[in-house]
Order: sequence, then C-alpha cells, then structure tokens
Amino acid sequence: MSSLRIAVIGAGLAGISAATALNEANHMVTIFDKSRGSGGRMSSKRTEVGDLDLGAQYFTARDSHFRQLLQQWLDKGWVAEWTPRLFRFDQQGLHESADQQQRFVGTPRMSALSRHLIGDLRFQSQTRIAQVHRDDDNQWQLSDDVGAVHGPFDRIVVAVPAPQAVALLKQAPLLAQAAAQATMDAGWTLALAFEQSLPTPVEACFVRSGPLDWISRNSTKPGRGGRDTWVVQSTPGWAADHLDADHETIATHLQQALSEVLGLTLPSPASLHVHRWLYARPTDQCNWGALAAPELGIYVCGDWCLGGRLENAWLSGQQAAKTVQ
Ligand SMILES: Cc1cc2nc3c(=O)[nH]c(=O)nc-3n(C[C@H](O)[C@H](O)[C@H](O)COP(=O)(O)OP(=O)(O)OC[C@H]3O[C@@H](n4cnc5c(N)ncnc54)[C@H](O)[C@@H]3O)c2cc1C
Repeated sequence: MSSLRIAVIGAGLAGISAATALNEANHMVTIFDKSRGSGGRMSSKRTEVGDLDLGAQYFTARDSHFRQLLQQWLDKGWVAEWTPRLFRFDQQGLHESADQQQRFVGTPRMSALSRHLIGDLRFQSQTRIAQVHRDDDNQWQLSDDVGAVHGPFDRIVVAVPAPQAVALLKQAPLLAQAAAQATMDAGWTLALAFEQSLPTPVEACFVRSGPLDWISRNSTKPGRGGRDTWVVQSTPGWAADHLDADHETIATHLQQALSEVLGLTLPSPASLHVHRWLYARPTDQCNWGALAAPELGIYVCGDWCLGGRLENAWLSGQQAAKTVQ
C-alpha cells in the first residue's frame, strides 16, 4: 500500500497504539489531542508532593501480544512491576487479598509511558477537533474548535471516548450509532498527601462496600518517592449520584470513606486534588475490537470497543491500524 496521510484524533493509549502501528507501516501520521499532554485517561498530575496518577492506576497484561510488548517496555525502563500489599474491604471488613494478578505502572508516573511511545511522531496537542468532513476530492479535513482547518488526510482514526466520538462520526452514521450505544460511567478521584505516613500496612485496596471502589498508596509505586500519597476512586454509582457536587463535598465524603476503610482518623492532608471523570470507563464490555467504514476511510478505536482497561485500549488501536486500507 502506498503511504497515506492519516489523522489520529485522541492521544490516549488506543490512539497512540494505532498511530505507532500506522507509522511502522510507513504512513504519515499526525495525532491530535485537545489536552496539553498525551495519555488521556492514563493521566498523572505533577504536584509539589510528587507525581499522582489520577486516571488508570496500573496495567494488567493478560493478552500474549500485549505481554510481549510490555516486556520491551520493561527492558527500556518505561514501566515497572508494582507489587503492593493488597487488601480488600467488604462486608467482612478489611482483610489481605489473595489476588495474584501482576500489575505494572509507568515510571515515574503513568502518563510518562505515552510520551515515550509517541517519540518522534507528529503530535498536535491543545487541538480539539470539533468536526470532520470530506472535501470534493474525498479527502478528510478536520476543523478544530477555534476554526482552524487541518488536512487534507486520506484516512482518519477516531480514538476518543464513545460519547465524544459520536460528534466526529456524523458522516459515518452506522459508526455513530454504535458509539451512541456504548455508554460510559463517570467517576470521582481524590488524591491526598500526608506529612507523616499513615500507620497502616495497606498499599492498595479493592473496596466492595460504600462509595469507594479502589485505593492506591501512590507513593509505593516504583519511582514515585516523596510524601505518603494516596489516590482513591469512587464507584460509578456513587459518582452518578454526585455528578454535579462541588469538589469540597466530594473531598469530604471520600476522605470519610477512606478513613472508614483504613480504620484510622486521618490527619489534615498536606495537599488534596479532586478530579471528575465524565467518561471514566465503558459501562459494558463489548468485543468489537475496532470499528471501520473503509469506504469512507474512517476507523474507530478505544477501550469502549473492547473493554475498559489499558491493554484493551492498546489492542483496539492495533486492530484499527490493521484494518486501515
Ligand atoms: C479513574 C480511572 C482509573 C482507571 N484505572 C485503570 C487501571 O487501573 N487499569 C486499567 O487497565 N485501566 C484503567 N482505567 C481505564 C483506562 O484508563 C482506559 O481504558 C484507557 O486509558 C482508555 O484509553 P483510550 O485511548 O481508549 O481513551 P482515552 O485515554 O480517554 O484517550 C482519548 C483521548 O482523546 C482526547 N480527545 C477527546 N475528544 C477529543 C477531540 N474532540 N479532539 C481531540 N482530542 C480529543 C482526550 O483528550 C484523550 O486524550 C481507568 C480509568 C479511569 C478514568
């Protein structure tokens, strides 16, 4: 196939995966993202108390292809295994978990991996694509939200969460319909730093009771260091019930919930960050892999095409790249 000009909209792991595969196939790829940096929901915040992973907490690698790739990332030092002392909190209270799943994290923060992967690829950040249309020569033109037009492109790959993809798929109604059906759950994240380490052995915890879903002791991840930092995530149901609450209310509720899980009275945190994810994870798992309208030259990928995990986002991007023709 001759070299094509391809726009990838979205620099999360799915978009990066598609972009790297298409680049390896000698296409001319440009990645667009509305945010300042790359990584999407694999995001981290650099703060005065260290780097905090506010989105994805770790990778799993269940797929054999993804495991091979992960080994390369491990060899390059881009990721490391994280072996937290893992607990579970449920109706029986707090107890150590027997879970043997291997977990990996980007170092020194989750989002750093996306920078390594993008490498020299052409990446246009802070560019929110508002619409895409085909011109008279059947080439794609991308308009951003300040009126600038980017193009022409022979093909486009849409790699954004399903609700945001709908607007970009107007010219491919079947794909838009599929994206409209793929609902996504919201989530609240609270990150805390304490002057003194909390007196608890907990380094990570699955929570199966109350408003919390997950607790990470962020500072126990390889390469983080700094203060005793914690990241807690709400359940989707609790987030839906508190979607428009202010950050102070969210922080109060989630700190209270953390205190109950750990069985500790928490000191005042040295710093605190609250983040709302409108589209945290797909509500349901589906097996599309990726979507395509080859007759239009438009391809779609993202975790919502395969399941709400980083490795699925990567695999979906690979699948989309394979179908590009
Ligand atoms: C709080 C939280 C915790 C999680 N924990 C884990 C975990 O521990 N392990 C795990 O495997 N997975 C976890 N996940 C899920 C994981 O983060 C996602 O499955 C994965 O990051 C999705 O990647 P993606 O590329 O499909 O989408 P995204 O990462 O959402 O990337 C989409 C990109 O598109 C950009 N974008 C959107 N609209 C536009 C537009 N119009 N123009 C330009 N750019 C646009 C966005 O800025 C974003 O960068 C978690 C998710 C959340 C939110």
